[in-house]
Amino acid sequence: MKANPANKLPKRRGSIFVISAPSGTGKSTLITRLRVLVRGLAFSVSYTTRPPRAGEENGREYFFVSPAEFKRRMAQKEFIEWAQVHGHYYGTSWQQLQQAQEAGQDVLLDIDVQGYKKLRKRLPETVGIFLLPPSFPDLEKRLRHRHKDAPEAIAKRLEASRKEVAHWKEYDYLIVNDRRSMAAQSLRNVILAARLRRGCQERRVTEIYKTFSGG
Ligand code: ADP
Ligand code: 5GP
Repeated sequence: MKANPANKLPKRRGSIFVISAPSGTGKSTLITRLRVLVRGLAFSVSYTTRPPRAGEENGREYFFVSPAEFKRRMAQKEFIEWAQVHGHYYGTSWQQLQQAQEAGQDVLLDIDVQGYKKLRKRLPETVGIFLLPPSFPDLEKRLRHRHKDAPEAIAKRLEASRKEVAHWKEYDYLIVNDRRSMAAQSLRNVILAARLRRGCQERRVTEIYKTFSGG
């Protein structure tokens, strides 16, 4: 039996990671840090009907589309999941996800609790990560200090957070975003460990195992 050079072994299967958190928890801040800490992770870019915020670019944070275009894409079944969040539509592209999976690429999706539930039903091996603030008053402070939303919008987001946090038990991993650097390291650890799951390495290890059969 010949040896298997490591670069000739089949690639491991790509994983799908979902990260959800109440608005203001610090998810965007954390994802920016993660981009530096973890290599080989693609980020799914959702479609949304919400208008771009200052500094956001079409095709980078989101694909910004009109409600009519969103509905057309919905009717054509382009989304693996979609949801209405804070009064706007958001949807995940099937095609982006499929392409990444076929290429054995890991993908991170920043989607809400409803989207996670729908995705997990269709793709049960999805890894769910829920990010929490240390407390409700901390969340309130972060939303106010961000200076991005009007007081009414902040009140709506805080109200929504009570319902969102109630779903924490549906996720595989829980990360409390207290100190930014600690939370970023925890997220990195989850991703690195999840890449080693048996299901992701089945093809690769089957090839290694074959070299152990005598003869
Ligand atoms: P999200 O993407 O979850 O809505 P942001 O990343 O925009 O949240 O963060 C909300 C606010 O909280 C920002 O002003 C950010 O600088 C701040 N923030 C993020 N992480 C922390 C943290 N660990 N401790 C304190 N403030 C934080
Ligand atoms: P924001 O408008 O602040 O960027 O995002 C608002 C919320 O929408 C966040 O909770 C985010 O995770 C969620 N979201 C973003 N894209 C999608 C998506 O494609 N599907 C679903 N279900 N939620 C999304």
